[in-house]
Amino acid sequence: MGKLFGTNGIRGVVNKDMNCDLVLGIGKAWGTLIKRKIPKPKVAIGTDARLSNDMLKNAISAGLLATGCDVIDVGVVPTPTLQYTVREKGFDSGVIITASHNPPHFNGIKGVAADGTEFTKEVEDEIEKIYFEKKFVLSDWKNVGKVSFWNGSIDLYIEGILKAVDVNKIKNKKFHVVLDCGNGAGSLVAPKLLEKLGCKTTYLFCEPDGTFPGHNSEPLPENLTVLIKKVPEVNADIGVVQDGDADRAIFIDEKGTYIWGDKTLALGAKYATKENGGVAVTPVTTSSCFDDVVLKNKGKIIHTAVGSPIVARVMIKEKAVFGGEENGGLIFPEMQYCRDSAMSIAKILEIMAKENKKLSELIDEIPKYEVYKIKMSCPDDKKETVMKTLAKQTKKDKNVKQVDETDGVKLYLKDGWVLLRPSGTEPIFRVYAESKDKTKAEEIALTYKKITEDLIKKI
Ligand code: MG
Repeated sequence: MGKLFGTNGIRGVVNKDMNCDLVLGIGKAWGTLIKRKIPKPKVAIGTDARLSNDMLKNAISAGLLATGCDVIDVGVVPTPTLQYTVREKGFDSGVIITASHNPPHFNGIKGVAADGTEFTKEVEDEIEKIYFEKKFVLSDWKNVGKVSFWNGSIDLYIEGILKAVDVNKIKNKKFHVVLDCGNGAGSLVAPKLLEKLGCKTTYLFCEPDGTFPGHNSEPLPENLTVLIKKVPEVNADIGVVQDGDADRAIFIDEKGTYIWGDKTLALGAKYATKENGGVAVTPVTTSSCFDDVVLKNKGKIIHTAVGSPIVARVMIKEKAVFGGEENGGLIFPEMQYCRDSAMSIAKILEIMAKENKKLSELIDEIPKYEVYKIKMSCPDDKKETVMKTLAKQTKKDKNVKQVDETDGVKLYLKDGWVLLRPSGTEPIFRVYAESKDKTKAEEIALTYKKITEDLIKKI
C-alpha cells in the first residue's frame, strides 16, 4: 500500500503530486473515517496564504461533503489558530491547507483531531487505507453536507493568548518589536496581537502573499538578512520571524544576533519549570542545554521520537509544563498542545518583562554546546540490525553512560552524546554529536561513524 502522510501531513508540488483528484479522495476517506463514530461531523477548514489554497480547499471540502460531513470554512489562518478553533468551538476535526515553509509551488494538508492536536499516525494510516482500498462510504442525497463560513477564528485565538500571558507586565515595557511574517498566514494575527500587547512595531513582509515576495519562508539566517539588519537599526528590543503557516517562530536579539531555536526552546523550558519544576518534553535530537536548565530547576525531562505530534501527545499524557522542538516550534500547554508562534512571541516578551532582562542577556544564561552533524550511507535492509547491534555492543562500553533507543540509537558519553538516526527516505544514517567543545563533538561523531561502518561491513 502507498504512503501519503509524512512527518507533517501530506505535501507536494501543486497539480503534480498535490492535485485535486488526490485531495478529493483524501476528503472522502477522511469523512468516511469520522462518520464511523459521529453521525453528522463538523469539520473546520483553514488555509495559509498560498495561491493554490482555493483549489485544494474546494477539493477536500467536496470529499467531506460527499460523505455527509458539514464543513466550516474559517478562511486564511495560521495552523495553530485552526487548531485552537477546532478545540474551543468543539468541532469534530480540522483541516489546514498548508505546506508550512516550503516554496510557493508546494502545498499540503494537515489533519487536526477534535482536541486540537495533529492527527496520530494511526488515524493517518486509517485514512490511507480507506483511500487506497477506495472503501468510501458516501451519504444519500438528502444527507450531503453543507458549507458555512465563520470569521471569528483569529479573534478567538488572540483572546486565548491574552488570557495565557501577563498582558500588563508586557504592556508596561512598551517593547519595540520588528515583526517579519514572511508574507505568510501569521500576517493576519501577529500584528493584531502585538498591538494588544502595547508594543511599538516595525513591520516587514506582513502582507499575506502566496508568492512569498519578501524571502524564502524557512526562517534560516540566510533568508533573514533584512530582519537581522533592521533590529539594531531601529533600536528595537527584539526581532521575530514566523514560517509560512506560523507554527514556528525564530527570534533576533536587540544586537541583531540570530538566536537558534535550541536556545529559545531552552529559555521556554527554563521559565516553565522555574517555580515548581515539572515535566518538559522534547525529541532525542534536542541540545543538552534544554536538559541542563530543566534539571537545574528540579524538573523532569522526557525525550521522545522526532515529530511535534509525538511531543504534544506525550505532553498531554505526562501533564507536562512545557515542550517543543528546536526548529522554533514551542508548545505551551496553558494555551494548547501544538507548536504556536504567536504564543511564543507573547511568552518570550513576558519572560523579558518579568526578568527585566534583554533577550541577549537571557540567551547568555543558557548553557552553550557545540554540535557536529554528518551523514553516512547504510543499506535500508541493514539499518535495523545495525542499530540493535550498536545498542547492544555499546551497553558494555565503559565510555557509554546510557543508551537510549527511543528514535535511532543515542549514546550518552562522559563528555557529550552521539545519536545515530536512520533516514526514512534515503539509505543513510544521520549522525549527530554534541559536546561543550567543537573538536570533541567532531571527534565523537567520527569515532561512532567509524564504529558503525565496521558494523555494517560485518552484517
Ligand atoms: Mg510550519
